[in-house]
Amino acid sequence: MAEETTTPQLDPTRLASLVEPAGTDDGRGREAVFEIEDLTVRYGQSAALVGVSMDVRKNFVTAFIGPSGCGKSTFIRCLNRMNDLIPSAVVEGHVLYHGTDLYGDGVDAVEVRRRIGMVFQKPNPFPKSIYDNVAFGPRVLGLKQDLSGRVERALHQAALWDEVKDRLKENALGLSGGQQQRLCIARALAVEPDVLLMDEPASALDPISTSRIEDLIHELKRDYTIAIVTHNMQQAARVADMTAFFSVDVREDGSGRHGVLVEYDRTSRIFTNPADRRTEDYVTGRFG
Ligand code: ADP
Repeated sequence: MAEETTTPQLDPTRLASLVEPAGTDDGRGREAVFEIEDLTVRYGQSAALVGVSMDVRKNFVTAFIGPSGCGKSTFIRCLNRMNDLIPSAVVEGHVLYHGTDLYGDGVDAVEVRRRIGMVFQKPNPFPKSIYDNVAFGPRVLGLKQDLSGRVERALHQAALWDEVKDRLKENALGLSGGQQQRLCIARALAVEPDVLLMDEPASALDPISTSRIEDLIHELKRDYTIAIVTHNMQQAARVADMTAFFSVDVREDGSGRHGVLVEYDRTSRIFTNPADRRTEDYVTGRFG
């Protein structure tokens, strides 16, 4: 009976049982792909995220979790300069990518986004054929050699090839939501990035499509470094090696609220033995 009275989404024992056994690797022996130092992001006058410092390790899946509005999307967008596209956004601090500051002089934001691809919450294929969607990035970059081979490889990597190989000329908008999202992953992979950022990639999908995306994340981490925003703690527990918990700090003088990084650790630790009370309250469902 106790089983039925607990909320599966928030039961820490269940969350802990989902965490991969590989969760003992804290990544310290791995190369840091990103070293984020004292990152603050403002939209106009108002700070969305303050003072975030953390590393993201190679071939790990790193999850960003926390209540709505704590700055998870703002943070992940800093990792490939997507916030540049928001006129009011101001980024302070440093985001080192393999040791180079992404916000330093002379860094080309387009090249940054080629190496650090992104997939969004809502699948956003272009109203073009399946083939042309995947070929889009390589064509923009002038990568003409063996374009068909490149498209096929990307579709294989995104676990979509078998479903679309006989209909590559059909409009991508005719695919199911889950297939569209895997197509967007293939589109990102076709330019051979180093990192894949995913902002709630499965939250608009049904459970079966969600599970396929999670399986795919497991496959892809052999070749890529992956960072994922998710509001679904079970998903973080299932896919992530490391988890960062963000929360909202409310200033006592009532002057405002902003996101902060509360705790960053191995996923198993975050869900079973967090160091900070705020993390514990969140993962056990007392808050959030
Ligand atoms: P989360 O992803 O955790 O829900 P967000 O990064 O979307 O959080 O938002 C953090 C804060 O920044 C919120 O207060 C939100 O209203 C604000 N914010 C996000 N995007 C913009 C934007 N484009 N312009 C102004 N404020 C924004």
